Amino acid sequence: MMKALLPLRYHPISVTKMFSFFPFYCLRLEHITLKMLAKVPWHHCLKLSICVFDPRLESAQLSGFPEYVKIVEVGPRDGLQNEKVIVPTDIKIEFINQLSQTGLSVIEVTSFVSSRWIPQMADHTEVMKGIHQYPGIRYPVLTPNLQGFHRAIAAGATEVSVFGAASESFSKKNINCSIEESMKKFEEVVKSARHMNIPARGYVSCALGCPYEGNITLQKVTEVSKRLYGMGCYEISLGDTIGVGTPGSMKKMLESVMKEIPPRALAVHCHDTYGQALANILTALQMGINVVDSAVSGLGGCPYAKGASGNIATEDLIYMLNGLGVNTGVNLYKVMEAGDFICKAVNKTTNSKVAQASFNA
Ligand SMILES: [Zn+2]
Repeated sequence: MMKALLPLRYHPISVTKMFSFFPFYCLRLEHITLKMLAKVPWHHCLKLSICVFDPRLESAQLSGFPEYVKIVEVGPRDGLQNEKVIVPTDIKIEFINQLSQTGLSVIEVTSFVSSRWIPQMADHTEVMKGIHQYPGIRYPVLTPNLQGFHRAIAAGATEVSVFGAASESFSKKNINCSIEESMKKFEEVVKSARHMNIPARGYVSCALGCPYEGNITLQKVTEVSKRLYGMGCYEISLGDTIGVGTPGSMKKMLESVMKEIPPRALAVHCHDTYGQALANILTALQMGINVVDSAVSGLGGCPYAKGASGNIATEDLIYMLNGLGVNTGVNLYKVMEAGDFICKAVNKTTNSKVAQASFNA
């Protein structure tokens, strides 16, 4: 059978309907034959075609990196919470359902916080109840206090997160209480979660800098992380909330935190304000971290940290990991589809370099 005469490393694909007719493995060019191409229902495809360079075709896994990285998709919560527009509930549900089709194993869904504080998340119960929860995928939600926790459980949540800060000023402005007061609330949440066998994850924001205080000491980041881990959080996500960190500060911070918490219980959460996010993540991977937070299309920002740009884009993270030969189990093309969907819904241009390059190719 004759092989298709298409450029070897580029995959011309149309992003929407094709996947339902065409198994993913067929997108590898060596599997595509003219006969197969003739069967593709091109009339079902999006008007817009994308050309994705997939580094996975060339790379074997490099030494010094984990074999597998778990991606925690935070777009629907961290991302949409910090977008200016309030996204309609049905769009959020569709977005999360699309993400569930990509191979992601963790998708943070919403936040059970007062709508007075964060109007973007006022529909938390409807979103939680409205999404299709697929087996094998975890759908954590943010629960700032016991009241939020009980609401989350009543709405069907089976995993929760608490959101702390390593900066006193950030804690007061972001969650309206001191670090100490926040820890007391989180202890109640995590204790209740443990009684119900509900896993709880802990966030430490401002781990590499604070919009109000500037530098944050390593001791403070380590102390807050240790406290959350000690109360029973199974994983601590260290957040560069305003994206000011560099590989140098990331390394020092991780060295300090790892003295108290094993790397298997740590994750990194990087924003790309200063263009350092991928370099910071790469540093963390080399130090033994294998859980990384990211948001499709680089959604988000931080309302309490002016000028902070969004989370690292999931597309860009997957592209880098593919190039390193690190398995994520996530389908880049499908993530790009979900990214395209949400960007159109919130009327914004994607922050993903990979999506920009691919859609404009
Ligand atoms: Zn974030």
